[in-house]
This record gives sequence, C-alpha cells and structure tokens, in this order.
Amino acid sequence: MNSKKLIAKDRKYLWHPFTQMRDWQTEEVPVIERADGCYLIDVEGKRYLDGVSSLWCNVHGHRVKEIDRAVKKQLGKIAHSTFLGLTHPPGIELAEKLVAIAPRGLCRVFYSDSGSEAVEIAIKMAYQYWQQRGQPQKKKFAKLTNAYHGDTIGSVSVGGIDLFHRVYKPLLFGTLAIPSPYRYRWPTGSDPERVKEESLKAMENVFKKHHKEIAAFVMEPLMQGAAGMIDQPEGYISRARQLTKKYNMLLIFDEVATGFGRTGKMFAAEHERVTPDLMAVAKGITGGYLPLAATLTTEEIYNAFLGKHDEFRTFFHGHTYTANPLACAAAIANLELFKKGKTLKRLQPKIKLLREGLQGFYGLKNVGDVRQAGAMIGIELVRDKGTKEPFEAREKIGVRVIERARKKGAILRPLGSVIVLMPPLGMSEKEIGRLLDITYGSIEEATNEIG
Ligand SMILES: *Cc1c(COP(=O)(O)O)cnc(C)c1O
Repeated sequence: MNSKKLIAKDRKYLWHPFTQMRDWQTEEVPVIERADGCYLIDVEGKRYLDGVSSLWCNVHGHRVKEIDRAVKKQLGKIAHSTFLGLTHPPGIELAEKLVAIAPRGLCRVFYSDSGSEAVEIAIKMAYQYWQQRGQPQKKKFAKLTNAYHGDTIGSVSVGGIDLFHRVYKPLLFGTLAIPSPYRYRWPTGSDPERVKEESLKAMENVFKKHHKEIAAFVMEPLMQGAAGMIDQPEGYISRARQLTKKYNMLLIFDEVATGFGRTGKMFAAEHERVTPDLMAVAKGITGGYLPLAATLTTEEIYNAFLGKHDEFRTFFHGHTYTANPLACAAAIANLELFKKGKTLKRLQPKIKLLREGLQGFYGLKNVGDVRQAGAMIGIELVRDKGTKEPFEAREKIGVRVIERARKKGAILRPLGSVIVLMPPLGMSEKEIGRLLDITYGSIEEATNEIG
C-alpha cells in the first residue's frame, strides 16, 4: 500500500499518543516501514537518522542481528506464558543479569510492561512497606517539580508537568513538591554550587517538616528527561540519598530514561555511587525492541512482604504479560551486547564529540541553554537570550525545528521549545556529526523564519 493510502486510513481509524489529532489530519508524517542500523526508512524509501532513539529506548540501533536472533529463537520455544504461579528461563536469567549490573544492594526484580507501571509499582511497594513495618502514617510522596514519571494515575500523581497533568488533578493523590535544580531558570542565578545548595536546602526543609508522613522521595537521577532535559549539579543525587536516609524515608530512582547507558554509565546512580531503595527501569532494557519494565529493590523491602498466607502481606500486583519471554530474551541479548560490543567504553568518545559539537550551538541567536548528561541532550530555545524570554506555545518553535530536520533526514521530537537529541548508543561518530549538522541547520532556519 502506498503512503497516501496508508495515511488516509491512519487518519480515519487512529488516535495517536500525545497528539493533537486535529493538527494530525493535515500534517505530513512519514510512514516508517523498516530500519537499517540507526536509520529509519519510510514506505517511500526515504531514510532518516533516528535522532531520539525511537523515543529514548533504542540502544544498539535497529535490526541488530544478535537481538533479532534471540527473539526468533525464543519464538521457536514459546511466545508467552504467565509469571503468576509459573516461571520461565528467560525471566530468571534476565533477573540474575539485572541484579549483577544494578547498584549494589538492589537484588530483587519485579517485572512489568512499561515505565509508568514500573514507577507505579515502586510507589505501591514503598507505601505497603511502611504499612507492614508498623509505620502506617508514612503515606505521602515527595517529588521534584517538573517531574515526569509516566501516564498512569499513580505515576501522574508524582509528576509535575502542569501542561500534561493539570486536567487530572482531582483524580491524583496529593504530594509534596521540591523545586528541581533548574539552573538556567533558578531565581537567584545560575551558579551550579549555589543552585545545588539552595535546592537541597529546599529539599531538607520539606523533609524536616513532613518526614513523619513521607513514605518515599521519587526522582529521576542526574537528568529529568521529559521535564525538558533538566540536569542536576554534581553531588546532588548523593546528597538526596543522605537526606532521605537522615529523615527515614525511601528513595525511589526512576531510571526509565537514564538507565542502560544513556548517561554514559549503565545507570545514572553509578555516577555518584548511590543505591536507591527502589529503582524503576524500562525503555532501554530490551535495546528498544519490545515493551518490558522492571522495579528493582532491596532484600530489606522484599522481606517486609513475607508472612503466612493468610496474613496478606503479599504484594497484590501483576500484569497479564508480566515478564513476557520474548521481551526477556531481547533484554538478555541487549545486555550481552553491552559486554561483547563494549558499548559503554565506545560511547565515551561519542559523548565527547557531542559535547564539543554542541558548544557551537551557543552561536545561534535563539539557543539559550544546552544541557547534556552523556547521550541525553536538551537544547532550550528562547525568544531573547538576554532576558531568557521563552517562545510562545502558538509559535510551535519545537515543531518547526523537527519538521525541518525531517526534510533534511533526521527524526527528532521536541519537548515544547526544548530540542531533544538522544542518539542510540550504537550510532557512529560520522552519523552523530550528521545529526548535529541537521539539528544546527534546522534550528537556524526555523528561528530565522519566525524572526
Ligand atoms: C518514558 C518515561 C516514563 C514512562 O515510561 P512508559 O514506558 O512510557 O510508560 C517514566 N519515567 C521516565 C523518566 C520516562 O522517561
């Protein structure tokens, strides 16, 4: 079927995620049919660099022969069997591998299907933990402002992106918000040390006042992704760990975006040798092949759920496709490739290349701030660099940039007026150079157009 016919059917039958469907009816979008390494290929045969790792999940590129083979091999055995009351080899093998690479002390793996669920599960575990540890008053959750932890009601409750979350507010449980250390727009200036100290002070104030009722503090370590790629000053996550210990609450790390190498280490927590009490992972776990997520936790938390059958200390949670064997097989092959292909070692020069290339972007008249944690990048566009005045939503600056990038052969997806770059870790240095060139040119053209 040709592109026109497919698009017509799409417009007739579909409702796309995070999409204003009225705009969709007239927008031109590629119909992606295949891929080749880090290129996506549409039904017309046009090739695009996958500049955001197919929404932050692809790791080694597409059609990786080792992962293809692992999924096919598993398909020859069984596609799915339940994890409720039964078990299977790929689920067991993957859990062992995850524990081996996780921050020390995280030694239990609870599977689910998406990042939202993995966070929701961490929240429910933290809540029930205190109920069963004789501190039932610990029921509240602390979070960072601007946070994004997924789209289910529980994960939205610990989120803080007004645009996405406002309408559901009456449905959400109340939380305590701590200002995220957003350097570029910090009220008393952008000096990293100062932002760190002031934001941690604000954190401690919340903990001091409410610690008796706080079950856990939820955060993305190192970089808040969907918030607009807001990076945290060095030392921030280890201090957050100290404070959560001091005030006797659990620390939940949402490593759904930062996990599996994205920040230059396997997990962001490693940068400051932190072990959270619970850690949610998803996106990159299968190399970007299949939906799978996991919540990792400590033996201490796991033990609080043990008891006699009729004490009902069980964690009553599980999804039909929990630990889907095909997804687990892809994840095992993904982790083996990290080792065999020395993915993290080979990533380091690419991170450097990105850092150096991005310096040039400050020469563009509307680039206000460039933020990077490893291979996670946000380029914040502003109307006026002097005053940091933002673009207005109706100007759709982000959308204009990615439309131009598409014409030049790269797929990007913005967060408002922040242009995101998140190349697959396996992208070559040459391709990264091209991605930077396309992005630079697209920002230049789009900002010139609206003046
Ligand atoms: C994407 C994301 C989620 C949600 O994951 P889904 O698989 O889309 O449900 C949660 N937390 C963070 C940090 C994310 O980037």
